[in-house]
Amino acid sequence: MRVAMIHVIQAVMLAGMKLTFPQKVNTLGKVKAVGGSISMVCATCNKQTLLDMEMMIGMLGARHSCLDADLRPYFFCTQCRAAGRDEKNFSFIQHANATPQGSGTL
Ligand SMILES: [Zn+2]
Repeated sequence: MRVAMIHVIQAVMLAGMKLTFPQKVNTLGKVKAVGGSISMVCATCNKQTLLDMEMMIGMLGARHSCLDADLRPYFFCTQCRAAGRDEKNFSFIQHANATPQGSGTL
């Protein structure tokens, strides 16, 4: 694991990119801190919802895990619930911050 991390750091440095932290984006606070976002997509009705990071952090705290198993109990598909279908047939998608860093040129 440590050797793999060193290779990753070397690869990033060789590419001339800036190594940024945190390296593990595993909490709601870290997702927000790196400019990321989380959405949920229902596999039954295809409803897609971009979750409000401020609201989630307000409800669960910035240190709450952003992993599927830890968020799932708090969410359901509103359309499927209203229709009486399985309301938990959804997936979370964690979106990275795709804003260009630095000058935006290579
Ligand atoms: Zn649905």
